[in-house]
Amino acid sequence: MDDKRDMAALGKAMYDMAARMYPICRSITGDGVRSTLKIVSQVIPLQVHEVPSGAQVFDWVVPREWNVRDAYVANSRGERVIDFKKHNLHVLNYSSPINATMSLAELKPHLFSLPDKPDWIPYRTSYYRENWGFCLSHKALLALPEDQYTVVIDSTLEPGALTYGEYYVRGELADEVLISCHICHPSLANDNLSGIALASHLARLLGDARPRYSYRFVFIPGTIGSIAWLSRNEETAQRIKHGLVVVCVGDGGKFTYKKSRRGNAVIDRAVLHVLSHEAGEFNQIEFYPYGYDERQYCSPGFNLAVGSLSRTTHGEYPQYHTSADDLDLISPRNLAESLQVYLKVVDVIEHDRIYINQNPKCEPQLGKRGLYGGVGATARPANEMALLWVLNLSDGSHSLLDIAERANMPFEQIKHAAKALLGCGLLRAAD
Ligand code: ZN
Repeated sequence: MDDKRDMAALGKAMYDMAARMYPICRSITGDGVRSTLKIVSQVIPLQVHEVPSGAQVFDWVVPREWNVRDAYVANSRGERVIDFKKHNLHVLNYSSPINATMSLAELKPHLFSLPDKPDWIPYRTSYYRENWGFCLSHKALLALPEDQYTVVIDSTLEPGALTYGEYYVRGELADEVLISCHICHPSLANDNLSGIALASHLARLLGDARPRYSYRFVFIPGTIGSIAWLSRNEETAQRIKHGLVVVCVGDGGKFTYKKSRRGNAVIDRAVLHVLSHEAGEFNQIEFYPYGYDERQYCSPGFNLAVGSLSRTTHGEYPQYHTSADDLDLISPRNLAESLQVYLKVVDVIEHDRIYINQNPKCEPQLGKRGLYGGVGATARPANEMALLWVLNLSDGSHSLLDIAERANMPFEQIKHAAKALLGCGLLRAAD
């Protein structure tokens, strides 16, 4: 993976993709997921899988499929005072169908708003407990007069399927890197669409790159999707050596890395190394058993080396799970920056190998091999130090990431030094 890409164009492509997906009403099942995966399929050749409702996936059962055509509350004059067609967050996600007339008092227990954010519509779901409801701004709620309201949710909850997408990039090794993102949120830009857009474009770049590792990208509904995927892919999961859950990568906040349950896996070290050399200030958090799908990948029966790399993470930005998590919250530039960090992490994973110094008894004479001054003359001392570090620690038990950490130098510099030393026969790969 080189660095000569047009990141601005990639940022724009990711943003445009998020904008195309934004109007679709998604949920953990249903046609919104299928339409979203169709948009992903325009970027990469996605394999789409359907797991039937009722299928047992570990301790869970794939739920009935939910689809919604229309939903509104109309006043006695027939005017729609809450209208799903204006914003799909207005309907409680997974609402059962209803067609009834009721007073404001009867309606109110089914209305959800945010008193401390009175202009925003909250995002609420009721996946595993049958219910119906509407979400609206607190201002709009307060403005509803006493009246007889017509309440319509034209939805279906029927046997169908849970849909997910998968894209596999074959590398030289059977060992895999997993990149996972959820696809189940409706019109929410940062928490969801930014992750899908980044994962799709990272997948496209890797698909063209003939990588060393094999890469598996999964586009799944949150929680039930990763549980379903893991239950159907237990053997494949054993091949996953490193993984990341991509989420909230479009806002302008600091990067946040949530470590895998293992805490010191290569992926944890690779991400933290890249962030500490490239990203200025960033947050790192230890694993905890909540959050996104990393909690399934990191359940004790799998304990995969999967962390989560985001900007501002869930619950930490005020717009989280509200109508204010819209296309204005994310930008092409932020998406491009996030993709760049993901690419650097991939670069570390791809090139983190163990080498053996072929001239271990005292330093080899680098000048006569043209290596002093021959490697990037503008930053000569750093490059010379990188050569010395690689030679000194390449004793068969230190990988290039170990060396970069110990030398406190950017991985890229250590990688270039190793390449130069390999070129003149002073190193050979240990594996
Ligand atoms: Zn969410």
